Order: sequence, then C-alpha cells, then structure tokens
Amino acid sequence: MTLDYYALLQVTQRASPADIKAAYHRALLAAHPDKNPSSAVDITVLQDAYRVLSAPALRAQHDLQLKNTKGPIGTGSRPAQIISLTEFQEDPACDAWSHPCRCGAQYTITVAEMDAGCHLVPCASCSEVIWVGYEMAEDADE
Ligand SMILES: [Zn+2]
Repeated sequence: MTLDYYALLQVTQRASPADIKAAYHRALLAAHPDKNPSSAVDITVLQDAYRVLSAPALRAQHDLQLKNTKGPIGTGSRPAQIISLTEFQEDPACDAWSHPCRCGAQYTITVAEMDAGCHLVPCASCSEVIWVGYEMAEDADE
C-alpha cells in the first residue's frame, strides 16, 4: 500500500510547492507534542511526506504510485460500467476470467492483472471498457 502523502498533509494533488510547504508546517505544528500531546501523527512520516512532495521527481513517482493503487474510478473521461468478478466466467486453463460484451466479444482479466491491482478491462473488440469489482486480499482489514 502507498501512503497518500497528499492526504497526510491535507492538500490536493494539484497543490503548488508553496501550498505543500505551508501544509507541511501546519501539519508539523498540529502534530507537535507540546501543542497536541495526544497527536498520533509520527513527525518522521510528515518529514518523509514533505521530502517527497517537495522534490519534483519524487513527487511524480508518488503520483504514479497513487494512481496505480487507487484505481481509475472517477478519473476517466466517462464512468466505466462496474461488473462484479462473480459475474465472470472462470477459465482455469489460462488463469483468466471473462465476461461477454454487448458486441459479442469478450472482456478478459487475468489473475496476474488482478494481482497487480488492475480493474479496468477493455473489450477485445469494441471500445467499451468495464471496471471489474473484486476484493483484494490486502484490503481485507478494512
Ligand atoms: Zn465489445
């Protein structure tokens, strides 16, 4: 799991370097044991967050990691139809699951793709894309 440093500092992913610096100082102050003895926030985590978000290359890498772990819902140009994996047909021969598309072709998602956290599946033939719903083992503690 990738820790969302933007959420930690309470800024958006579009925040400017100045916004991030201000948010970092705000978060540090809020987490200071003298100001807030009950604060559960680890200051070293805030320092990590600022180190990453204040370095353009590290920030870009962090953005990419967030994109890969959060999934594309709500970020695409149009919402994808959500179909549960339980509606898919399992094909044990090739470790893949498939679902018929309206056009007659198939959506196919492989076990390897699911292991990688991939949810968006394009139709093999037309331009339709669906979002496959399945539980990831690492989300089980929610
Ligand atoms: Zn299709």
